[in-house]
Formats: sequence, C-alpha cells, structure tokens
Amino acid sequence: MLSIRRRELLQTMAVSVAAPGLARAAALTPRTVETIVVIGAGVAGLAVANRLKETGRLVIVLEGRGEPGGRVRTARAPFDDGLYGELGAARVFDTHFYVQHWVSALGLNLVPFSPNAGAALFAVGGRRLRADDPGAGAALFPDLRRDERGLTPAALTNKYLEGLPADLGEPLADAATYARWAPFDRVTWPDFLRQRGASESAVKLLTMGADSRAISALYILRQIMMHRDGRQYLKIEGGMDRLPRALAQPLGNDIRYGCTVTRIDANLNSVRVTFRKDGKDEIVAGDRGVVTLPFSTLRNVAMNPPLSPLAREMVTTLPYRPVTRFLLQTDRRFWQTQQLSGAARTDAPAELWDASAGQLSVRGLLSVTAGGTPDVQARLAALSGEARVRFGASIAAAAFPDLQGRFQKGITQNWAEDPWARGGFAVFYPGQLSRWGAALGRAEGRIHFAGEHVSPWPGWMEGALWSADRAFNEILG
Ligand SMILES: Cc1cc2nc3c(=O)[nH]c(=O)nc-3n(C[C@H](O)[C@H](O)[C@H](O)COP(=O)(O)OP(=O)(O)OC[C@H]3O[C@@H](n4cnc5c(N)ncnc54)[C@H](O)[C@@H]3O)c2cc1C
Repeated sequence: MLSIRRRELLQTMAVSVAAPGLARAAALTPRTVETIVVIGAGVAGLAVANRLKETGRLVIVLEGRGEPGGRVRTARAPFDDGLYGELGAARVFDTHFYVQHWVSALGLNLVPFSPNAGAALFAVGGRRLRADDPGAGAALFPDLRRDERGLTPAALTNKYLEGLPADLGEPLADAATYARWAPFDRVTWPDFLRQRGASESAVKLLTMGADSRAISALYILRQIMMHRDGRQYLKIEGGMDRLPRALAQPLGNDIRYGCTVTRIDANLNSVRVTFRKDGKDEIVAGDRGVVTLPFSTLRNVAMNPPLSPLAREMVTTLPYRPVTRFLLQTDRRFWQTQQLSGAARTDAPAELWDASAGQLSVRGLLSVTAGGTPDVQARLAALSGEARVRFGASIAAAAFPDLQGRFQKGITQNWAEDPWARGGFAVFYPGQLSRWGAALGRAEGRIHFAGEHVSPWPGWMEGALWSADRAFNEILG
C-alpha cells in the first residue's frame, strides 16, 4: 500500500505533469509571457523546459555539449550488428514513477533490464562463485560468523537493517526528519554495519561492487529503503538516450548547443546568463533561471550575487563518485552456455552486466562499471585509448576468464574526466545530508535548481525528473 507521503507525491505529479492540457489552458497572455533560461539539457533541464513551454512560457535551454542527454548516453559505435550499450544511466526500478510517466508520455517502452535465465557471479580474491549458490558467501569469506553463513546478501542486509525507522524510505523529508535521522549520518556505511554487529567478512560481502568506505550510512540506507518495493530493473527499449532525444524534440531550436555557461547574474526582476560559444561570450536574459548543472561543474560558474553561504558550501563541496564505464564486445555470449546471466560483482570493486540482453545478435556486450577507488583512478590516469579498454577487460576477466579469447573491441567513458560532468553522480559523506538535506536545491531568488543531486534519488534519472517537476511547481507558484 502507498504511504501517505508517497500518495501526496503522486497527486502533485498527477496535477502538474500528467495534465498538459490543463497547463495549456492556463497559458499566459503575451503581455505577461515569462522567459525562463534553463541551464543544461540533461533529462532534468529537458523535462522542466517541456513543462514550462507547455504553459506558454518562452524557454531558452543552454547546453555545453553538442547534443542532449548529459549523463544519459548510449553508445552505438563502434559495435557490430546494431548492438548498443549505456555509458551512463542504464536501468531504472519498476517503482520509478517519474521515469515511467515520461517514458509512456513520449511513446517509449520499458523492457526487462536483464535476462531471466542464468546466475550472477561473485568474484573475490581470484575465486568465482555463483550468487545463487547458498554457500557462496561462506566459501568466498570463510570468516563469516555462524549466524551469517548461508544467508544471501539480501538476507544478510535485512539482518542488519531490522528495526530501522520505516520513514527512511519516504522520499520527502523536512529538517526535523533529517535531525531524527542524524545518528545514521554520523558514520560511514561500513562502520554502520559494524555497529549493527556485522563481522568484517560480512562488511566485505555487503560492500562488494562499489567502494562505500567514505559514504554516509544515511545515504545508503535511504537508497535501500526507498527502493525496497522495487521488484525488477527495467530499461528503455532501443537505448536510454531515446528519452532525452524525445524530450528534446518538442523544444527544437529552444535548445542552444555548444554554449558553456560561465556566469549567472540575478536581481529582483531578472536573470542574465553569460555563456561562451565558438570562442565568444554571449548573454541571454530571462525572468528566471533553472540551473540543472551538476554542482561539480556549477562550481566553475561565477554567481552574482553570490549564493547563500549554505548553498555555496553545497556547490563547492558536494562529492561526486568518479565512475568509469567500459563496454566490451565479445564474439559470442559465452556466459550463457555456462548458465550465467553475465552479471557479476567483483572486489575490484566493479559491477558487471550483460548490456546486450534482449538485443538481436550472437555477439555480446559486457558492461563493466568501476572506479570510486583511488587505485582504479590512478591506473586509468596512466592509460589511454586501447590500453584503457584492455584494463576494463582485465577487470571483467576476474569474473569471466573466458573473455580473454572472446573479446573483440570496446570503449571507455571516464566520467570524472568529462568536462560537463566532472564525476558520475552525487554521493554524500557523513554529516552532509543532516546539514544539507532539507535545503538541497532550495531556490535562491529567481534562480531555481534541478538535477539528480538536489533530489531524494541522487544518482538516478528518477531524481532528475522529480527535481524538474519541483522547479516547475516553484515557478508556477
Ligand atoms: C556511470 C553512471 C551510471 C548511472 N546509472 C544510472 C542508472 O542505472 N539509472 C539511473 O536512473 N541513473 C543512473 N545514472 C544517473 C543518471 O545518469 C543521472 O541521474 C541523470 O542523467 C542526471 O540528469 P541531470 O539532468 O540531473 O544531469 P546531467 O545529465 O548531467 O545534465 C546536466 C547538463 O548540463 C550540461 N552542462 C554542464 N556544465 C555546463 C555548463 N557550464 N554550461 C552548459 N551546460 C553544462 C551537461 O552537458 C549536461 O547535459 C548514472 C550516471 C552515471 C554517470
């Protein structure tokens, strides 16, 4: 059953998003037409621009790249047989309401993310075990305590989450709620597990696949609890970039590509945005601005007047996970003959999946997501081009040794090096959510904020789309 908070959230959505006809009926008269400058053509910026345009407002979307989508990016080249894979957002939960709304409104389809058949793998210290083997945890981590052995990772997580406040899974939270949750925000996720009684081996098992050593337990708990009703991962048929492309289509020339925003001036009545295009500075003016840039790039944009001290602190210090994605084409989906799904978690740490699932080709495409640890970043920094791809293949080979003979070609996207992202997605260190949570993305005068990082779903398109709706409602008043 939906909780009251969740129901309220969906009702707001139903009024503001699912009824474009109503919005059009309330269109402004020409004399009062507002111009809104939207900065960034990722899914947050595109969604808010669509909503605003539907009300009759003028929108100008400024985007640094030459195409829409930001961190939603599908790679089709250099792969054969029409294969494609995701360099950024790859999957959504079946509970991601905002994504599902936009996908169906734009005539796109969601399909299962992974194949139904085959087991996932764990690869630790040179050993590989099937995740569906009940003894896998104990075999890989012989020091697991007796009461931890034989439990699947999900059951082990539940063991250490028992009795936590259920409202940790509510998307919306005010300052009082963050104050109540503060104890979870004083420790890192591994330390929280230790406090709850997990053995060192259980901590290792539960933190496989991604480095969480510096990450706040509150951030991870929110991610787990907000997705606890999720039953299935889904993906957009034909590639995730079909969503931003479909969102960009109605905006046409309202989107100006190749425009790097460098400065935002605002006063009581208007905003002026300075951007660099083809080596020259240009300015556009509007009544309001919606800033959707990741804080990792917004920190390089001059703001006049300066943001409030708390907002400035967030913009300058919000951490971003330095993620790298490798896509590796193979001549066959060799894992299928071993009754494996192509998914794996390794102690690199890395997460793998079969990006070719559901696509027509005998060839396969393995997706490898790594990074977040200084050693992986240092290795990547020392490599370029083909050597990077081979490094990705060596990470994958820990789970799939047969890859060595089957690998054909691949590509790499290191998000920390991407000048328009400077990191993968926002994460939170201890103390940051308690201090910032209730204020994240609060409007500053005529400047509104949107983007995954100012939402209850950091790191998800769901959050970016939710934040677009919030900015839209703020502007509508
Ligand atoms: C490796 C990786 C894996 C992910 N996996 C998933 C997943 O499986 N599922 C999921 O739902 N989400 C996932 N995400 C997160 C998802 O991609 C983001 O939450 C979402 O795309 C963010 O959208 P946005 O509009 O907030 O930001 P962005 O997409 O970053 O949009 C901001 C835009 O601003 C532009 N920009 C930046 N600086 C400037 C400037 N100075 N001037 C002008 N333009 C500028 C950028 O080019 C960009 O287009 C993943 C992200 C990464 C990196």
